[in-house]
Amino acid sequence: MNIFLTGLMITMCFSGMGITQELYIKPFNIPDILNYKTLKCDFHIHTIFSDGKVWPDIRVYEAYKEDLDAIAITDHIEHRPFSNDVKSDHNRSYEIASVAGKETGITVIKAAEITHKMPPGHFNAIFLKDSNPLDTANYMAEIEIASNQGAFIFWNHPSYPHPENKELWSDVHQLIFDNGWMHGIEIVNSKYYYPKAHQWCLDKGLTMIGNSDIHPPITFDYDFQKGEHRPMTLIFAEENNKKSIRNALDSQRTAVIWNGNLIGKETYLKNIFKNSISIDHSDTIVDFINQNTAFIKIKNNSSISYHLKLLGAPQHIDAPKNLTLKANNISVLVVKANNNSQTPTQTAGLDYQITNLWLSPSERLNIKIPLLVLTDQTN
Ligand SMILES: [Zn+2]
Ligand SMILES: [Zn+2]
Repeated sequence: MNIFLTGLMITMCFSGMGITQELYIKPFNIPDILNYKTLKCDFHIHTIFSDGKVWPDIRVYEAYKEDLDAIAITDHIEHRPFSNDVKSDHNRSYEIASVAGKETGITVIKAAEITHKMPPGHFNAIFLKDSNPLDTANYMAEIEIASNQGAFIFWNHPSYPHPENKELWSDVHQLIFDNGWMHGIEIVNSKYYYPKAHQWCLDKGLTMIGNSDIHPPITFDYDFQKGEHRPMTLIFAEENNKKSIRNALDSQRTAVIWNGNLIGKETYLKNIFKNSISIDHSDTIVDFINQNTAFIKIKNNSSISYHLKLLGAPQHIDAPKNLTLKANNISVLVVKANNNSQTPTQTAGLDYQITNLWLSPSERLNIKIPLLVLTDQTN
């Protein structure tokens, strides 16, 4: 009863803030791409209905305040340390959260965490119809039941709970994969990135997922004042609804944002960067006939800072070796003619690598900043 009242009071307090417009949300801007909406999602969240420390509706309000679009509440089937105090079935945390979801417009997806020692470790089943039949204590049976319910199933934090914290693809994982029961892997969980899992997703056609796996209140782990955010799965979906999110997951239309890095396939990362940035076109004409230096304004309309490293510039141009396009800022790229300028008017480009856009564990996204260079042949 006390827990219920606490939850209710926080709900009312939150609603009150919304009504009186005292609630401010700092937008977390990531552009839409390729005619899809970019949805910010966290598909791995705990509440006191397993080993989290938070009532389920608070998880929705936390997501709302962080400018997310969709979440899944994934309480453990097997690990429920507060079950003497919180007596309920496995669907209850979803039911509570989904009421707050309707209030706020956050899409809440029914889910559960299948929790066993390695192998196979922990798996999230999201888009479940009913979480209760999973409570069988047999991991293969649980995963099969989830699959028969049409769930989207992914392997969580793939090095845990391996005794040596290793990412190992075992025979059990192969069997789950061969049965068509593994659809994705967390390449990021909380503060950790899993390079092997990233490569497995690329090699085996699995969906890349990144989640918080949050247990305490979200602000215990992430300082929004400093610009920190939980890791998220970016979903490129037709609409913000369950069907579109599911289509995107099934089609591997995802990327992962973690610790200021964006991880995903080239087509998604390239378009997120392209749609984040605007360059004043007149400024990209570098007039070396009348002046020696050009200032090029680059506006970054997104909440992601991009870190650029120079790979190459035309012979007659000096450009900065490193440049950060700060989130929600205008950066100035200063380009200079060097003394060996012999080149006539031409189009040229500066080749940069974006060091925080990751295509694979070792590859980064390369881009070209186009320039129209005006130079005097005799100079
Ligand atoms: Zn887990
Ligand atoms: Zn978990």
